[in-house]
Order: sequence, then structure tokens, then C-alpha cells
Amino acid sequence: KTLPVDESKVPGSRQVRGACFSLTDPTPLENPKLVAFSESALRLLDLKCNPDTEAKFSEYFCGNKLLPGSVTASHCYCGHQFGYFSGQLGDGAAIYLGEVINSKGDRWEIQLKGAGQTPYSRSADGRKVLRSTIREFLCSEAIFHLGIPTTRAGTVVVSDDKVVRDMFYDGKAKLENCAVVLRLAPSFLRFGSFEIFKPIDPATGRGGPSTGMTGILPTMLQYALDNFFKEVDQALPKVEQYLAMYKEVCVRTAALVAKWQCVGFCHGVLNTDNMSLLGLTIDYGPFGFMDRFDPNFQCNNSDNKGRYVYKAQPEICQWNLKKFAEAIQECLPLNDSLKVLEESYFPEYKQQYLSEMRKKLGLVKNLPEDEALVDSFLNTMEETYADFTNSFRSLSVVSLPGVQDHEPSIETTLGLLLKDCSSLESVKLFTKSGFTRDQIESLKQVAEQNPAFLSMIGASVQAIEDEVRKMDAFDKIQTLSEEDLLKSNKEKWQSWLKKYCSRLKKEITLQQNLQVLDGQRKQLMNSINPKYILRNYIAENAIKKAENGDFSEVRKVLQMLENPFHDETVQPDEVTGRCGSVDYNAPPP
Ligand code: AMP
Ligand code: MG
Ligand code: MG
Repeated sequence: KTLPVDESKVPGSRQVRGACFSLTDPTPLENPKLVAFSESALRLLDLKCNPDTEAKFSEYFCGNKLLPGSVTASHCYCGHQFGYFSGQLGDGAAIYLGEVINSKGDRWEIQLKGAGQTPYSRSADGRKVLRSTIREFLCSEAIFHLGIPTTRAGTVVVSDDKVVRDMFYDGKAKLENCAVVLRLAPSFLRFGSFEIFKPIDPATGRGGPSTGMTGILPTMLQYALDNFFKEVDQALPKVEQYLAMYKEVCVRTAALVAKWQCVGFCHGVLNTDNMSLLGLTIDYGPFGFMDRFDPNFQCNNSDNKGRYVYKAQPEICQWNLKKFAEAIQECLPLNDSLKVLEESYFPEYKQQYLSEMRKKLGLVKNLPEDEALVDSFLNTMEETYADFTNSFRSLSVVSLPGVQDHEPSIETTLGLLLKDCSSLESVKLFTKSGFTRDQIESLKQVAEQNPAFLSMIGASVQAIEDEVRKMDAFDKIQTLSEEDLLKSNKEKWQSWLKKYCSRLKKEITLQQNLQVLDGQRKQLMNSINPKYILRNYIAENAIKKAENGDFSEVRKVLQMLENPFHDETVQPDEVTGRCGSVDYNAPPP
């Protein structure tokens, strides 16, 4: 039920009051064509796509036709964007088709993203283009096959209809084809789904559309408990049930971020409306997998303060959990939830992160020195500008001390690690600052006199320090030759490999067959350190081809991402006979 609309507050936007969902129809698209589909995601809906059914699939999964029983709707949610409460956001481009219970009895919500305007589109068009849908499609499936909780993607459909996007070529706005991605999740509820119950703040006049929502918060919490947190004991008093659910959200979120950190994934827009209640990766926008390891890796160009850089993700998610606790405080006292947050989030994160990192280094025993070994590995990658994914992957080449080929295996690994360090020319590019030292000095001085200044211009002390560090590195690089750099990298890696080997010795127990132990270790490592990730340039390449009407690269990249740990995953090319996968694990050109 939707109460009268108040459009006076924000031009072009519609404040929906008294409703969590609005009935919304998809807007039809001209001549839809299927770009790609994920067989394993469609199987969750008991669907199978083949060349004969592709045309039918494209009609249904662009929103032109509706499945029997489908009730289409968009969800009203709020959110904290970049640290500030933004009031109503909602599904501006996503439309629910409904929910499906498959033959296994699993329940899946299905959505079209890009199917046209909804009451929550504000001034935007509710459309998506090939770039954004292919990125969401490929990355959802990549993250799933890496074993990380995520929403799934079933299809990408492109149409002849066009929209203008803010990309300029030769001074002209570029028209892009509308595209739609089908996505699936047990639930798309987010922290922001609960922030709509936030009362209007008298100071700012902003708040959730709480009018008419009295009593809905407990209904929403109960719905979540009944459907997604069935393990919570129903005999407990209500507040304790809410607390148990909140704790589970903290634990799942911690586990999720730990997994992101371990594959070098940066979400890019960790606003509270992009935080899944179920601890899933949700909303693939300006995400990025790191190539070279950089703790300050940033993939969102509009994030001037670096709020969502790689190293900040664990803390940001904790902040988001706090906002979630505040949103439900009418039902669950804030003191209780914040205590649980404090006790469960970081301990869980740390435990998950370390246990995952141990496996990545091939360590089965749990020793206190391991944390320092992980840190020194990360530091060495940072100092040598080495590729995150490939550096981990090459560690499985090291054979245990005592195994016959131990010495040669160290040499081979060293070679692999050095191959994945950046060249002198690249390092110069990475460390080149947009500022002069004088400019940085004056910034520092102004900031000392006026502490609020940095924040006003969207900078921070940390950002300045990082810039100075970059300048130092740049100056040092100027004095080096390619051979000097190689020598310095070699020394750094040799010294780390020495530490690594002395730790590996402690893995060996006398009763065990060394050769068998070594084999098991390598297998474990190669099942957790991916060979293939969705590198940005690989996605770009697939998108460019799709924009020219060739969908084969999207399909091929999907095939590779479905088997991220395997050595030869892509079938040889029919024309050239070459196996495409050989290139997909290379750092960016
Ligand atoms: P995001 O940063 O992707 O989480 O999006 C923030 C808000 O913008 C959400 O309410 C989205 O639904 C909305 N939004 C994003 N893209 C579009 C679009 N193309 N048309 C309408 N609304 C959009
Ligand atoms: Mg979003
Ligand atoms: Mg988005």
C-alpha cells in the first residue's frame, strides 16, 4: 500500500511513504538478444538454456514477457552513502520478478537490473548498459566460483534501445545499448532495508519514510528470522532472537570481508545500502581485483577520500554494522547489539583471515609466528610491486625442505615471483605524484593551522603521508636502472623465501611420508590461490567485443572464471587452435 506521494522534497524523486515495496512493471526493450548465460546459476531456477531457447530467454529476461505468477516490484530502502545518511534510495534500476522455489526446495528471489524506471529511480533512467551488466554478470559468477558468498547472475540481454551515458567521444555524448542482467539471491535485503524505519531527524529534516511505518520494523525482522535465520531458537524471548540474528549478521559479514581481502577484491561502494543482510557480496559497480598488491588500492574514482580502499574494507564493514544496529534499536537495544558487534566482528574477521591466509601459504599447523609471515609476504609484494594473485599462486611451486627438488624449486619460484614484479617503467608510473613537494608542504602547514581543512577538501593526514611515501619511492626509482631494480627485488624475495622455508620445516612431522605431505600441500594451495581472476583489462576486452556485437569473449571469460583454480580451463579456439586461457593470468599490459 502506497500513501500519497510527496515529490516536493527532491525534484525528480518520489518519496514513497508507508511501503517497503512498490509494484513496478519492467519497461519493454526493442529486439533483445542474449549476450551470455551462466548454466550453473540458471540451474538454481531449474532452467536450461540452449541455442533453441536463447531467443525465448532474452524475451523473459529483459522484462518483455513475464513468467506465470510473477509479481514485479521494487524495494524501498535507505542508506548511508560515503558516511552520510542519504534518506530514501531504493531499487532505482532493479525490479523483482518474484521468488522461485526450485526442485530442491531452495528459495530464490529473482531480479532484473536495468529493466527501466521505478519509483526509486530519482532523476536516472533505470537502465544499464553492456559495460555495467557484463561486469556484474562476470564478477558475480567469478566471486561465486572463488567460494565467496554472493548474489548470482543468470543472463545478460542486450537490446537495440539506446541511452546516453556520461562518456564523451570527440566532444559528443556516446549512446550505449540498453542491457539487462538477471540476478538471483536467497534475499536482496540490505542493512538499508532496515534504515527506512529511521525517524526523520529534526536537525536535518532527513530521515526514512517512516510515516505510516509504525509496527513494520518487527514485521521485517520476523520475516528475516523466519526465512533466513532459521537456526535461531524460536523459544527465546524476542529481543534475544534479534540479538542472535544480529550476531549472525556480524559473523557472516566478517567472514565475507576476510575472503575479499584474501583474493584482493575491492568492492568499491560499501555504503549501507550495498551491505547484504545475509553476508553476500552485493551490487557490483566500480569493484576491482587488485593486480599488483597495494593496500591503498582504490577502484572507485568518485571516492576522493579513499573511504573504500582495499585496506579500509574490514573497518568500514564494522561501521556499517553499527549503522544497522542503530536502525533496529527500537527492537534491539543499542547497548546489547554494540556489545555483540565488539565481541564478535573483529575476532571473527581475524580468525577467518588468518586461517585463509595460512591455507594460501600452504601451512596446516597453526603457529603464533604465522601472522608475521603473512605480513612480511604482503610487505614484500608491496615493496616489489608484485602481482597479488600470481605471487600467491607461485608459492605452491616451493617443495618442502627435505624433498629432493627443494633447492631447484626455490629457484623456480624466485623466477616466477620476479617475473610478476612490475618493471621500472611501470613503477615510475605508479609512484608519480600529481603534486610537488612544495604543494604538499603548504597543504600540511594549512592543515596544522586549521585541522578541519583537510576534511573540507576531501583529503586526510593519511592521504598526505601516502603521497609523501610515493614521492620518496619515485625519487629512489629515478636513481635505479632496470638491473638495480631486479637486484633489489631479488634480494627482498630471497630473504622472504628463507623465512618461508624455515617455517615450512615446522610443517614436517617425522611419521609422515614427505613426498605425500608435499603433494597434499600443493593441492591445498592450488585449490585456494586462484590462477584466474576477473582482471579489469580482461573484462574491458570482453566488453569492447560485445559492444561490437561479438559475445564470444564474454562467454569464454565466463568459462575461465568458472574454473579459477584449474590450469587449462578454456577449450582451444576453433579457428586458431590456441588455448585462450594461457593469457588470462597475465598482469595487465
Ligand atoms: P549504488 O551506488 O549502485 O548502490 O546506487 C545508489 C542508488 O542509485 C540506488 O538507489 C540505485 O538503485 C540507484 N541507481 C543506480 N543506477 C541507477 C540507474 N541507472 N537508474 C536509476 N537508479 C539507479
Ligand atoms: Mg546499490
Ligand atoms: Mg549499483
